[in-house]
Amino acid sequence: MIQELQLRVLPEQAASDDNIKQYISREKGLDARTIKAIRILKRSIDARQRTIFVNLKVRVFINEMPEEEAFTHTEYRNVEGKPAVIVVGAGPGGLFAALKLIELGLRPIVVERGKNVRERKEDLARISREHKVDAESNYSFGEGGAGAYSDGKLYTRSKKRGNVEKILNVFCQHGADTSILIDAHPHIGTDKLPRVIENMRNTILACGGEVHFQTRMDALIIEHNEVAGIETNTGKTFRGPVILATGHSARDVYRWLYTHDVHIEPKGIAVGVRLEHPSMLIDQIQYHNKAGGGKYLPAAEYSFVQQVDGRGVYSFCMCPGGFVVPAASGPHQIVVNGMSPSNRGTKWSNSGMVVELRTEDLAHPDLQLQACEAFPNSAEAQTETLIAQAKTEEGTVHPLAMMRFQEKLEQICWQQGNMRQTAPAQRMADFTRKKLSFDLPPTSYSPGLISSPLHFWLPRFIGDRLSKGFQLFGKSSRGFLTNDAVMIAVETRTSAPVRIVRDAETLQHVTVKGLFPCGEGAGYAGGIVSAGIDGERCAEAAAAYLHLSPQIT
Ligand code: FAD
Repeated sequence: MIQELQLRVLPEQAASDDNIKQYISREKGLDARTIKAIRILKRSIDARQRTIFVNLKVRVFINEMPEEEAFTHTEYRNVEGKPAVIVVGAGPGGLFAALKLIELGLRPIVVERGKNVRERKEDLARISREHKVDAESNYSFGEGGAGAYSDGKLYTRSKKRGNVEKILNVFCQHGADTSILIDAHPHIGTDKLPRVIENMRNTILACGGEVHFQTRMDALIIEHNEVAGIETNTGKTFRGPVILATGHSARDVYRWLYTHDVHIEPKGIAVGVRLEHPSMLIDQIQYHNKAGGGKYLPAAEYSFVQQVDGRGVYSFCMCPGGFVVPAASGPHQIVVNGMSPSNRGTKWSNSGMVVELRTEDLAHPDLQLQACEAFPNSAEAQTETLIAQAKTEEGTVHPLAMMRFQEKLEQICWQQGNMRQTAPAQRMADFTRKKLSFDLPPTSYSPGLISSPLHFWLPRFIGDRLSKGFQLFGKSSRGFLTNDAVMIAVETRTSAPVRIVRDAETLQHVTVKGLFPCGEGAGYAGGIVSAGIDGERCAEAAAAYLHLSPQIT
């Protein structure tokens, strides 16, 4: 017999399957020997009150063993000799597009500018050790994309649960722990993700797809407003329709599209800092207990949002028990982000603390940044020239203006950080009091911090709202606004600064046929799962374009 039960138990009662079995047998009057197995279907922590509970939905197998697999298998068939679709970028968008193409009987050719996920790791270590950022291999570029060395949080606001479940099941099929199907806030962890990504690549290769690393798309081949293929930096060209899943940091791609009249639009982003607290402090606040979460609760999460002077101020991509990482994708910039291992066991908890910026805000005097143009031939300076040349009509925002704003702020931050990857930082309460920090607390940010008056040089439009936001967060959560927390500048890559505009039904670019702008870089996803979902949709759209499958879900 199989029974499904909803349980509300103390953390220690949910600590293992045996503990749950004991609880069920005691509470439900069942003989423990008859419970052959349990399967947890859903798990969430309710920390709203002083006593913390774990809510569980459990399937109990009484006098019988489970037969079904813990996850749903997708069948991938051989696609050698089938029509090819080019997938540019091996982030979650590109990888899920490639796997879906295989499901649909098409042959993916994946082109990725960075290295494979293992070799990439050495370049990441070099950023911290030598302060050198390889423009082709970093936290944004390389197999797995921006999601590979991350927290691996897998929740999304997507309402289509079916699509979300599919992505999570594919991750499980490639080696992710099945707990991601259960937890309300699932995450994989940066120590486990690379193996999962390798397995996804191996499925693509085993089915007859291709994966080309260190191969950068330099141009789209467009003939009569239709994509015929791509040119790459290796001299190789590939022919076929193109799923363009290049992420939000491929600024050269945006520049290429703009200069070749492929329609793009500027998009709002959010900008701020990484805020890092001792994880014990966050646990104490969130679990209402001086001892923190103790043995049975994970490092605590938080989420804040407030409207301040007409703009959202909010926490973003929270990493409990994680690290702050140097996520620049080129020289002359500092960009910070966060990641965590699967056990979320470090001494720090961090999150982005960001202020919403709309495209029209760029006209505000506070946001007219004057970064030193020390590099007249740099890509950044070229964009400036592009913007200056393109005398846009009054009142319209240049398509690359938001990207240029990001670039300038990252460059200013790098100047403030002594032109290395040492990040400018300030204690949280000092910032709200507009006071330079005399010293800084220990940090997980391995290139090191330098004390800097962020209140002074962050654009006031952002800094003033952050400061007010912190004060509101501190009121709602006592102890959160503290000098034990440090703000690390600057968090700019929260989403794409550009939208590569596509048709809502065919998912093809509005003017270029056979081009499928995909994932976060195109402005249609914001996170690992939503990029994966969008990748699958673009694969379906490419199949429809090739008249192989009319259905786009
Ligand atoms: P990307 O992942 O950005 O992939 C784009 C790929 O395209 C890259 O591999 C890049 O090298 C390649 N590329 C770019 N240009 C070219 C070219 N010209 N030719 C060939 N290849 C090219 N999201 C979450 O949901 N949960 C998290 O916990 C989380 N943590 C994060 C932590 C960090 C440190 C970072 C940086 C991001 C994090 N994110 C997280 C965001 C998430 O990683 C992205 O939303 C997601 O990866 C977007 O997927 P994508 O495939 O659209 O783009």
